Amino acid sequence: MKSDMKSIDILFDGFPGKTSRGFLGWSSCILLRGERMGLFDTGSFADRPELVERLHARGLTPADIDYVILSHMHFDHAANVSLFTNATFYLHEEEAKHVNLSRLDDYALCAEIYDSLERTNKLQLLQGAEGMVEGHPWIHTPGHTPGCISVIVHESGANWVLAGDAVKNIYEAQTGEVWMTLNDAASKSSIQQVLSKADFIIPGHDRVIQIEHSGAQTAMKAVTDVEFQIQVSGNYPYPIHLKGSGSTESHFEEEVRGFFMGLFKD
Ligand SMILES: [Zn+2]
Repeated sequence: MKSDMKSIDILFDGFPGKTSRGFLGWSSCILLRGERMGLFDTGSFADRPELVERLHARGLTPADIDYVILSHMHFDHAANVSLFTNATFYLHEEEAKHVNLSRLDDYALCAEIYDSLERTNKLQLLQGAEGMVEGHPWIHTPGHTPGCISVIVHESGANWVLAGDAVKNIYEAQTGEVWMTLNDAASKSSIQQVLSKADFIIPGHDRVIQIEHSGAQTAMKAVTDVEFQIQVSGNYPYPIHLKGSGSTESHFEEEVRGFFMGLFKD
């Protein structure tokens, strides 16, 4: 599927995982191909080597990226902006305000990275409810943070909404129940807004979701597979105990838990 697509190239699929040491922060990261090369989100610090590697695998270096659209200023989406020395950056002005107001309260913000981005004079702030950015429509989808945006890419006759954390995963899209939001009502309305515009959603922390609209009904399903590998350094000699938790009706989580448990079984 991805190989047929002209403009959307998913560098990282997102993953909705947490650990007892905090949120994993594995967000989606999307290359937007065109006359100008763009990125929607940049991943977190731990993604940096693999992000560069995946660009290299496509014949690109970070210097080839002309623009970066940031869905919001959380670390798992915005930590790698300094790699892209030739890029123009786009962020919603409400997110800039949020960084300045909540830098000590919203622990996922990378405020210092925002500060250094602001000093480059390459940061452009988007205003209002919607607009165009680098030839793509964007919509303001607040809730998770006040300045979240989503971008719509028209690809092979379908509308792909790069949702960022306005829709973090298929569970949120299906139920409207949202975890980790600063404004639950705004999040619910942003999810509806994304659903109304999308044939496909690339969520902030999940695989691609296909949306089928028929009358008032909206059906959805995950259409891509996600594969992650984890390793323990060297011949690490001590036992590692992994515990799973969460909804037993979540098939996806069962699969993931099974995978991790199997890996560390002695
Ligand atoms: Zn995120």
